[in-house]
Amino acid sequence: MKKEEDFSEWYNEIVEETGLTDKRYPIKGMNVWPAYGWKTMLLIKTAIRREFDSRGHDEVYFPMLIPEDQFQKEKEHIKGFDAQVFWVTKAGSNDLDVNLLLRPTSETAMYPVFSLWIRSHADLPLRVYQIVNTFRYETKQTRAFIRVREMQFIEGHTCHATFEEAEAQIEEDLDIMRSVAADLCIPYRVIRRIEWDKFPGAYYTIGVDTMLPDGRALQIASIHQYRTNFSVPYEIFFEETDGSRKPVHQTTYGMSERMLGAVVAIHGDDKGLVMPPAIAPIQILVVPIPAKGNAESIYAEARKMAKHINSHGLRAHADERDIRPGNKFYYWERKGVPIRLELGKREIDEGFVTAVRRDSGKKTRISTSELIRELGILLKDMASSMLKRAEEEVKSKEFDVHDPSAIKDGYNRMQWCGAEQCGRKIEELSGASLLGTVSGEKCSGGKCVICGTATDNVVYVAKTM
Ligand code: ZN
Repeated sequence: MKKEEDFSEWYNEIVEETGLTDKRYPIKGMNVWPAYGWKTMLLIKTAIRREFDSRGHDEVYFPMLIPEDQFQKEKEHIKGFDAQVFWVTKAGSNDLDVNLLLRPTSETAMYPVFSLWIRSHADLPLRVYQIVNTFRYETKQTRAFIRVREMQFIEGHTCHATFEEAEAQIEEDLDIMRSVAADLCIPYRVIRRIEWDKFPGAYYTIGVDTMLPDGRALQIASIHQYRTNFSVPYEIFFEETDGSRKPVHQTTYGMSERMLGAVVAIHGDDKGLVMPPAIAPIQILVVPIPAKGNAESIYAEARKMAKHINSHGLRAHADERDIRPGNKFYYWERKGVPIRLELGKREIDEGFVTAVRRDSGKKTRISTSELIRELGILLKDMASSMLKRAEEEVKSKEFDVHDPSAIKDGYNRMQWCGAEQCGRKIEELSGASLLGTVSGEKCSGGKCVICGTATDNVVYVAKTM
């Protein structure tokens, strides 16, 4: 299946064929992670963990089950998630006294405990995160990594003494986003969600969206400012230096396996996946090219070369299977390995190796003595050209639109007065969603595309995944 012809089918095929996921598990939307997919996801988690850790956030782990009475405390939150919750109501043949639910997200698991951890000003800020699986009963059609019922989730939770400190945390979250997106070579937009589309219980929500090749927006992360919306019902109070008790200000930051879905969708081509170097389980593949009579020594050289590369902190693998080199090329190209090194007798005799880049197919001769340095340069070049190509593709999908019934595939920017009634009308006419507004983007002299009121407010409209 070609990507251009049927993106959706292409995506569904490639994620299974390349060993990223196995959808044959007998629960819809709960997929198996085979080794190649899991290794990639672990590398994404490692990149995120590094960003949190280096900024002083602590990793924690909370139980997967949440008691119903804790879940019920924040009214908006429960309304927003109620229909998606998996319940545990029995233990053996006995009904439970209090029903339990599988975490759809962990606010209601963490916050009763935060209220015990936080006593005084000295306990703030509290900045923790966890990397866990979450469960949501999705009713729309499921899709690997993008819409699943059991999801790999990274959630950061913070508590602060003031609203301003919580706002500063959100700035830091956007910093983290920049680093992680650079590793994944993914362009993204930071879009403030409109009032009726914010996270249940949030004061405001920032969506981090990326644009897929079929012109649909995909939310890959979200950041929420809670103010004291949760800390009041969950009684997360701290004692100020003057002895007064105040509720903490909270934020959360969520990222998920959707990031992997975005990587597949944005970078993959008709030959298969193209893995960003930072998250490629194998960054460099060494393929021995044997000729009659020297197979063994060439295989040994290839093994030695991979070992040498690994000892310098890069991820290399020598394919020593007894199949033709051409089949190995094809097999690993499909899995998206960034660089392939071809090593034959002539290369060994003359002290070089032939490198082939997965993204451009470009071949270069690398002198063996410069191998590690040159590989570092190639990987870096590849990452930056992957990001650049993806950014150009997104730019070609941005439109200023004045008629909501004539939207295009991609980001449609429209003038909107901000009234809910007009917003709903835009959605109805376009058949797409209001993603929200981008900080600093204004348009002078514009009129609301629905009611004609003068406005400089610009809203992003797109079909979503
Ligand atoms: Zn209007």
